Amino acid sequence: AKNNGRNNYQLFLAEMQDADLANFTYEQDLINAINHPESFHFVYQPKVNQYDDVIGFEALVRWLGCDGHYISPAVFIPIAEKSDIIITIGELAIKRVLQQQMRWQKQGYELVPISVNISGKHLISGKLIPFINAQLAANNMLGEHLEIEITEGVLLTEIEECIKVLSELKGMNIKISVDDFGTGYSSLSYLKRLPIDILKIDRSFVNECASTTEDGQICSTIINLANNLGLQTIAEGVETEAQKAFLLTNGCSTYQGYLFSKPLPADKATDLLTVQEILCE
Ligand code: C2E
Ligand code: MG
Ligand code: MG
Ligand code: MG
Repeated sequence: AKNNGRNNYQLFLAEMQDADLANFTYEQDLINAINHPESFHFVYQPKVNQYDDVIGFEALVRWLGCDGHYISPAVFIPIAEKSDIIITIGELAIKRVLQQQMRWQKQGYELVPISVNISGKHLISGKLIPFINAQLAANNMLGEHLEIEITEGVLLTEIEECIKVLSELKGMNIKISVDDFGTGYSSLSYLKRLPIDILKIDRSFVNECASTTEDGQICSTIINLANNLGLQTIAEGVETEAQKAFLLTNGCSTYQGYLFSKPLPADKATDLLTVQEILCE
């Protein structure tokens, strides 16, 4: 057993070095990729109500690395966060989403809001509002078609700046949701000070909400909290009918997850949109 433990340790060391090396390579590749924005594209995961009507999408980035394989955002977003690359990715998301919606609008589809994931760093950079304004104008689109997802961290550390930026976004009719709600910090005081619209229940709680009492309690507590504060809730990572039923019974009627659909390329997302009624005179 002793020997075994030692082998495991050796293996651990070797893997750690591999991971560091991989991170280093990704960082270089990421810097290069930023000059080739076509290596990033966005997929759209539907958000649905209890009747499975599509009420929105979330845009999720995909990066095609130089070896032709997709690299998961779970791997490269944390690396991008270390520099201003994360701002470039956020801007790319906003730009692509609004271009996509402009195309849909021209083709006569009924638009639903699309959310983009924005890093805390980007939120307080001073660049977000001017960029969104310029992109809305360039695409002749309204703010109401855009939503911003942020995680809790930045809301606690930079509260004054966040109040300012989030209020401006609200003034542009852009909705704000707190992503991965419940996994960040324990202070809830920011909820009363910030103009937030939606709490997004983290997948880690949703996963076992129907099978583990504690996870179920956490979900229903988040839903009650949101209701009491006049906020909406959406559950992420809903994979089973049992999870959906539990959430519905407990008052959360909006969800996202593999049960309804994985994130889709734009053309497949288009198939889920309704064509606007043509009014004859
Ligand atoms: P997130 O914003 O919490 O997004 C949800 C993640 O869960 C997505 O992973 C989505 O594909 C995945 N997912 C959705 N439904 C299910 C399900 O039913 N089961 C399971 N197992 N997974 C599900 P993805 O696309 O790999 O993104 C991972 C994270 O990377 C995102 O978490 C977000 O934090 C970040 N990210 C993705 N795109 C962007 C982006 O454009 N900008 C920024 N800043 N971050 C992004
Ligand atoms: Mg998100
Ligand atoms: Mg999330
Ligand atoms: Mg998540």
